[in-house]
Amino acid sequence: MTGTCWDLAVGTARHRAAADGEVFQVATAAALVAGAFRGEVSYGDISRHGDFGVGTFDCLDGEMVAVDGEFHQLHSDGTATPVRPEQLAPFAMVTFFRGELSAPVNGPLDHRGLLARIDGLAPAEADLCAVRVDGRFGWIRMRTVSRQEPPFPTLAEACVDEVEVERTDVTGSLVGFRAPDQSDGITIGGYHFHFITDDRTAGGHVLDCRVDSGEIRVDHEGDLHVQLPPEISGG
Ligand SMILES: [Zn+2]
Repeated sequence: MTGTCWDLAVGTARHRAAADGEVFQVATAAALVAGAFRGEVSYGDISRHGDFGVGTFDCLDGEMVAVDGEFHQLHSDGTATPVRPEQLAPFAMVTFFRGELSAPVNGPLDHRGLLARIDGLAPAEADLCAVRVDGRFGWIRMRTVSRQEPPFPTLAEACVDEVEVERTDVTGSLVGFRAPDQSDGITIGGYHFHFITDDRTAGGHVLDCRVDSGEIRVDHEGDLHVQLPPEISGG
């Protein structure tokens, strides 16, 4: 892999426990938002840095969700297919998920309630966290970006025509991260989740949901390692 490596200590990283993990990220969120949709790093390479995470593909051709070491491509029609190692990512975030903190969900929680429950499990000073929620979702609303042709629009422009998909009473996994608001631009500030069904055939970028039952698991990630593509770093 070429390009500059940035190791960015996030918040209390200096005081982190030895067990804290690292998030490996391809490119900055700001570059993706600006329309840098050309894939730079292969998912074969990315999979050496984590078994869990989110991302997208060359030309913004769908969303990526990795769970249990399996990488999936989520298409704009809501379907999912396995990722091939040679497929390229303009942006991705992965980590080796450990699930150190956990809490059950025993009754319906709307999206806001779910985020509050996660915040309670992983206090604000935990900064960067990987979050997984496995369960039964009474309702979930998703969207999936679709392939763009150069010259690329901005991410906001590319999302104007995106199709939203709703599913009811579906079991599956939310996979994502919580990052400090002040890190937005370097990474994606706040919460960012992708969903995939238990049978791994459908999913998308999560806009809203209600989880009825399941389990929340959270890992504190001490370090964010940003791999800058060559054209940004000049390498
Ligand atoms: Zn997303």
